[in-house]
Amino acid sequence: MAYDDTNIFARILRGEIPNDTVAENDHALAFRDIAPKAPSHVLVIPKGAYVAFDDFAANASEAEIAGFMRLCAQVCAMEGVSLDRGQGFRAITNAGRDGVQEVPHFHLHILGGAVMGPMIGARD
Ligand code: AMP
Repeated sequence: MAYDDTNIFARILRGEIPNDTVAENDHALAFRDIAPKAPSHVLVIPKGAYVAFDDFAANASEAEIAGFMRLCAQVCAMEGVSLDRGQGFRAITNAGRDGVQEVPHFHLHILGGAVMGPMIGARD
């Protein structure tokens, strides 16, 4: 699937629309979800143009993957949900139609601050 650079996260990365930044490094940006589904709900996105998890995992450089993953760990610590500082979290990524992905720029949802409940809800 070709990357659509008009998606809302591409626009955030270009500075065209604001975001509530939590943390950032050379390769990734973390910001609060505009419609949080948990007391802490942060999205981590690569700065490169990747449509979904499998695109990123297959095509990103090792530096991009490391930068992304390290920022995820930083967010868990900063939000107080990491296992050494808090009570845990859920990390989710949706991909494509069947994954019900709304924004076609790879992002990881990091949700915490409460017990997250069942992993998957009703599918209809
Ligand atoms: P997904 O269904 O995995 O693609 O999730 C997209 C997420 O992006 C949703 O949880 C939205 O609430 C969130 N979202 C959409 N627009 C924005 C925005 N401008 N700033 C922050 N989060 C957003």
